[in-house]
Amino acid sequence: MLKGKTALVTGSTSGIGLGLAVALAKAGANVMLNGFGDVAGAKAEVARLGGRVGFHGADMSKPVEIEAMVRACEAEFGAVDILVNNAGIQHVANVEDFPVDRWDAIIAINLSSAFHSTRAALPGMKARNWGRVLNIASVHGLVASAQKSAYVAAKHGLVGFTKGAALECATSGVTHNAICPGWVLTPLVQKQVDARAAQAGVSQDEAKRQLLAEKQPSLQFTTPEQLGALAVFLCSPAADNIRGVAWNVDGGWVAQ
Ligand code: NAD
Repeated sequence: MLKGKTALVTGSTSGIGLGLAVALAKAGANVMLNGFGDVAGAKAEVARLGGRVGFHGADMSKPVEIEAMVRACEAEFGAVDILVNNAGIQHVANVEDFPVDRWDAIIAINLSSAFHSTRAALPGMKARNWGRVLNIASVHGLVASAQKSAYVAAKHGLVGFTKGAALECATSGVTHNAICPGWVLTPLVQKQVDARAAQAGVSQDEAKRQLLAEKQPSLQFTTPEQLGALAVFLCSPAADNIRGVAWNVDGGWVAQ
């Protein structure tokens, strides 16, 4: 379905981003990966699906590098047809204890990076009159949790940015939507499981059970594969008129 299209997925060396890259590659897209850590492993995982795979190591806190990444994708693959703004970090602390550098980093990586990549990719999408911008927000783009003020502010901002950009493009073939996962067991959440297990002196399994029981009524983690399937759907013609939504995949978290 996505043969001939190119997807640029930020933060795609692990977790949800890698899952989205795999799903888009399975649907036929060429993929440009980005992120830190196991670059070779991520490239191999996507390459075995048969499409073309590229990588750019831009730091999502640096606007100049983000713009260079978009230009590199256009140079290597001819276009950025699908832009997935997924890179994100977390830090947990009360407001009065929140390290200023963590606040700045979360706003830069989880929110401002989406503005910088979108503004760089949009002229090409508009010229071709087709584009998909998928912003990986969170249930924390819709509701809050204590000790996550920076993350909640960034994700609410990302949902707002998605709506504004969607309206600007409403009469074109370019759509902007947000995906809002609940708990997904990735390295980002594993850190929170580890902290809970250590603090409460409980096993990993018990820490996971407690984490889910607090917020996610299904008591199941959302999987990167489920999010990948939604991303592919949002890239399909059936989703041509889905614009500016914030679609939660959260086991009932925000239904409460
Ligand atoms: P993860 O830690 O597994 O992956 C994060 C990715 O971002 C990695 O590839 C990492 O290298 C990359 N990254 C981090 N900082 C970067 C930077 N400065 N420049 C470029 N790349 C950078 O985390 P994840 O759980 O897969 O999270 C992915 C996205 O999903 C994030 O935006 C996160 O907020 C969101 N999310 C996660 C969950 C969850 O439960 N895991 C829930 C809702 C939303």
